[in-house]
Amino acid sequence: MKALEEKILKEGIVKEGNVLKVDNFLNHQIDVAFLDKMGAEFKRLFSEKKITKILTIEASGIGVAVMTSKHFNDVPVVFAKKAKTSNIADELYHTRIDSYTHQKTNDVVVSKQYLNQDDHVLIVDDFLANGCAIIGLIDLVQQAGATVEGIGIVIEKGYQEGGSKIRKLGYHLESLAIIESMNDQTCEITFRK
Ligand code: 5GP
Repeated sequence: MKALEEKILKEGIVKEGNVLKVDNFLNHQIDVAFLDKMGAEFKRLFSEKKITKILTIEASGIGVAVMTSKHFNDVPVVFAKKAKTSNIADELYHTRIDSYTHQKTNDVVVSKQYLNQDDHVLIVDDFLANGCAIIGLIDLVQQAGATVEGIGIVIEKGYQEGGSKIRKLGYHLESLAIIESMNDQTCEITFRK
């Protein structure tokens, strides 16, 4: 998505530790009109899929998931929650996800009430790096006996292993921008053609 690449070049900040900050439109302040355009693009990319639910993980995936839902007939958005205690209740699906940006492992849960075997799920998230968040979300869908119809990512860091790992598993993965390289010294960012 050309407009997204341009926005990243204009507003993104490359931080030490291989982290791209896009707080200006996605991770802190939300550019609603722009997220709406990204939702429309996900609809175009997954137009042949019958989606009953959009699944993401708190917090940064929620905005884009909600705007994407607007383009899929307002299907419900479910966001996996980071559990506060390790007392995992029976009525929850749970998985463990290593956090890329916070260097810790979270217990992540979804209520069994909100995901079931009849669901056809589009998984959406802001970033794809090593793939831990997406693998965890796939695990939650599988526990529910539901179907992963596709995975939509706003920004994939293509030089990390997540994208190839998930594509090799056979999932339909679409990223709106794929970063080929970024440099925290020069702030230079290049995209995959
Ligand atoms: P993964 O689980 O694929 O290793 O990392 C993806 C998750 O880590 C995303 O949910 C996102 O919140 C966070 N993340 C990974 N890399 C970046 C980055 O460069 N910038 C930001 N803002 N978040 C990132």
